[in-house]
Amino acid sequence: MKKILITPRSFSKARHKADELLKDYEELEIVMNTTGRTLTEEEMIDQCSDIDGIIVGIDPMSEKVLKSAKNLKAISKYGAGLDNIDLDAAKELGIKVDRAVATNAMSVAELAIGLMFVASRSIVPTATSVKNGGWDRGKNAGNELYGKTLGIVGLGAIGREVARMAKGIGMNILGYDPYFDNQEFTDRYEISMVELEDLLKNADFITLHLPLTEETEHMINKDTLSIMKTSAYLINTSRGGLVDEDALYDALIDGVIAGAAQDVFSEEPPKGGHKLLDLPNFVLTPHIGAYTKEATERMVMQSTQNLIEMLELEKK
Ligand code: NAD
Repeated sequence: MKKILITPRSFSKARHKADELLKDYEELEIVMNTTGRTLTEEEMIDQCSDIDGIIVGIDPMSEKVLKSAKNLKAISKYGAGLDNIDLDAAKELGIKVDRAVATNAMSVAELAIGLMFVASRSIVPTATSVKNGGWDRGKNAGNELYGKTLGIVGLGAIGREVARMAKGIGMNILGYDPYFDNQEFTDRYEISMVELEDLLKNADFITLHLPLTEETEHMINKDTLSIMKTSAYLINTSRGGLVDEDALYDALIDGVIAGAAQDVFSEEPPKGGHKLLDLPNFVLTPHIGAYTKEATERMVMQSTQNLIEMLELEKK
């Protein structure tokens, strides 16, 4: 009997969907992560020692984990970003990898748009002041999104949904993605494809929708922040490692940009707090981008289907 480990916490919320798909196939021994959190590398080494397949969230699948998982044949990512998986090691070891493409794009895009309103209208600090008995509208008046320029970095599944929604709000859209070439889409949503530098210089809102790789790590740094408008807002729902957080802190303190709102951080949760969390013009949500009922169901179904195919499970 093949053994499967399922690590994402939200998987159990739609587990019945996976069971429905699996009922026609050979029986599996399924082990769920019951810790209520992302597993550590040590725990992954321990849990993966005798599994044939895994449906994995953001838990580390380093070379060390993969090498210790002697029976592992397939990694099914519950989501889109593969940055927690050592793809070179997987290839070398002959372990198949697939991801649940576009299953959470709508949810993450809606959060990114939401964070633009959060940042530009100071929704978090003003609402917090009311909860604390105050009625403080903040020093500065907010900004409308209507008529502003949005720079979308990465026009994959999520970036394209953001473009569609932003068009509806009445924003002008700049795009940067060296691997994207779909003129029908850019024509339909009137997206001007530009170089990254032009996007950073001209956008009022910059939203990141690209994977974390060696090439993209710290793409938002002291230099790139310095060319943004002082009135610009940075939105990051992709990965914390895309942004140099020390440089972002300095930029927010010194008025180099107006604000930032993120759903991701270099270390989740940020250990012992982080200086960025003390700033009123910085907002962080706890990686909730794909945490909706709809995305959960789609991710459960797609990641289970991908695992069935990669493990070539036999029909009963
Ligand atoms: P996708 O693969 O559909 O799109 C990624 C896009 O980034 C592609 O179009 C690719 O060409 C582009 N890209 C790659 N390198 C680039 C570069 N150097 N500069 C500009 N563009 C580049 O992925 P997606 O589903 O749109 O997801 C995007 C990212 O969002 C994922 O990699 C993941 O890290 C993150 N994500 C976060 C959450 C969350 O819960 N917050 C959920 C899902 C995905």
